[in-house]
Amino acid sequence: MSPTRRPSSITIPRRGLMLVISSPSGAGKSTIARHLLEADPQMSISVSVTTRQRRPSEIEGRHYFFKSVREFESLRKTDALLEWAEVHGNFYGTPRDAVEQAMAAGRDMLFDIDWQGAQQLQEKMAGDVVSIFILPPNMAELQSRLHRRAEDTEEVIATRLANSRSEIEHWLEYDYIVVNEDLDSAFASVQAIVEAERLRRDRRPGLFEFVNGLLTENPF
Ligand code: 5GP
Repeated sequence: MSPTRRPSSITIPRRGLMLVISSPSGAGKSTIARHLLEADPQMSISVSVTTRQRRPSEIEGRHYFFKSVREFESLRKTDALLEWAEVHGNFYGTPRDAVEQAMAAGRDMLFDIDWQGAQQLQEKMAGDVVSIFILPPNMAELQSRLHRRAEDTEEVIATRLANSRSEIEHWLEYDYIVVNEDLDSAFASVQAIVEAERLRRDRRPGLFEFVNGLLTENPF
């Protein structure tokens, strides 16, 4: 939020936002998501379950809940996942409970998930989902970002690069497209999207009471 803007003293109740951010690996989606969480106290992240190996920098319960394939299967079968998908040869899924609790409390939630997950959430909770696809400025930059991260093996990087084209082909399914050439300006675009989406009339049932109050007020 811009430092010149004063916080409002008027609170108008609204429904929580489900902000879905997808991109091919290396386009900067996770960095943008992290900045958003740091800058925006109204936003929390949905922590997914995955069968992928934990990277050295990752923390259980913060980046993912790391599970065996068997544990994942059991979550899936008991309907504990709101959506799930196989991505780059591993399983990933969104735990249902945390999302339902956040939505019921009118809190916003960020989802760092792929196009398959985005499609499933759009189908299940269309009115609450806002989706953003982050594109790299060019494919060479995508490759060098994957290498710079230096947390994956060459084989994993090669799989991710090979999959990036088929992921980008889903760009038309998203509400907003942000090209991440410069992180600061890509982040500012994402913040602008969130801010505008929070102001949407249909997301703010509390407006009825507020406007009624205005219309019945007698200033004279
Ligand atoms: P990574 O292994 O780099 O953390 O994630 C690989 C891909 O899986 C990314 O595109 C990420 O957005 C996606 N992903 C992470 N969690 C989920 C999830 O719960 N559901 C779906 N559908 N995709 C996920």
